[in-house]
Amino acid sequence: MNRKRFSKGEKFVWTVITCLVVLLLLYWGLNELGLLPEALITTENENLTGTSESSNPIPANIDYSQSDSKLEIYFFDVGQADSILLRQGEAVMLVDTGNAGDAETSYKVTNKINLSHELQRLGVKRINYLIATHPHEDHMGSMYKIINLFDVENVYANNILPEGEQAGYYKRFVSALETSNSHFIAHTNLSENEILAKIAEYNANVPESQQVSYNPADYFRVGDVIGLGEASITILAPNSSSYYDTNDSSIVLMVEFQGVRILLTGDAGLTSEADIIQWSRMNGFSLKADVLKVGHHGSRTASSEVFISLVNPKYAIVMVAESNSYGLPDEEPIERLERHGATVYMTKDVGDIKMVVQNGQISFDLGFSHEEKEAKWVLCVKDLNFKMPLKYLLIE
Ligand SMILES: [Zn+2]
Ligand SMILES: [Zn+2]
Repeated sequence: MNRKRFSKGEKFVWTVITCLVVLLLLYWGLNELGLLPEALITTENENLTGTSESSNPIPANIDYSQSDSKLEIYFFDVGQADSILLRQGEAVMLVDTGNAGDAETSYKVTNKINLSHELQRLGVKRINYLIATHPHEDHMGSMYKIINLFDVENVYANNILPEGEQAGYYKRFVSALETSNSHFIAHTNLSENEILAKIAEYNANVPESQQVSYNPADYFRVGDVIGLGEASITILAPNSSSYYDTNDSSIVLMVEFQGVRILLTGDAGLTSEADIIQWSRMNGFSLKADVLKVGHHGSRTASSEVFISLVNPKYAIVMVAESNSYGLPDEEPIERLERHGATVYMTKDVGDIKMVVQNGQISFDLGFSHEEKEAKWVLCVKDLNFKMPLKYLLIE
């Protein structure tokens, strides 16, 4: 039997083909294991997100220098708590509302901001999107007050209830929702069919008058994109409905405007960060951001090395009180951020932080010292001749 012998040329071709096959298999294997460098990650799953924005998040170099429009972001100094206002043109989003008492209408002088007064001073009447990142008092304590006082269009929250029976702020939040015209939009990881099955099960056990119907607009999922004027905001978390730590159930948002990206993390901790990284790899979504609202008030329970190296922010905002019983911020996350080259601003040091994105550039106004703010607050009340309708003052 005559064996066919390869010529030198044929050998070379077969060697090249074998090498290509090995390389392809290696790429496929590393990609499946999530071990590829970001630049090489496949975007074959991009359609899973249902949005074009989230699959191709970093725009090409566009010249924004002629644009009039701007995005304003206020990181309010609400002490040991979060409250962040985003405004693009007429569109307004408020992420968290500080502790209970932070938006009260009584005229006490405080060195913290009064949220309802400040929003009014800034000319906010209508809030298109109110985001409750997670049901802890330092994020939702004053949410019922904001819903009662302002024209709130949509409220985004996860389906996690607060721990313990003491969460009066949450009961007030629910009753404020019930008496408002706000559209409540809940986080879900379920498919449409799973939701329909749950609704059918629920309806089978209640009288016809209490039965509910399915509306896809009542739910949001990770990967959904909210349009805020010309800004787009991609929801990156929660990636589970059953985290052990309520902080991990925080809604996490990537804000994009004129090529600038701002990542708002609520109190998301290490577990949620790992899930966000996995989701971003699956979907070819870069986590790179210019500004990071640091997770969980600068606690070491958030801001892992891998997360910070992927986000790699130029600026990091830590929302934290000067004295707090948790001893926050922890040193490690702050050192880590600085080691990665981030400029760190803390509300405890600089007070309110206003950030503006215009012409594709970021600028900061680090606001007032605490003493000056006290004076400002009194002035603000006087100047506005601020009067709340009696019905709201009676809510307390
Ligand atoms: Zn918190
Ligand atoms: Zn929390």
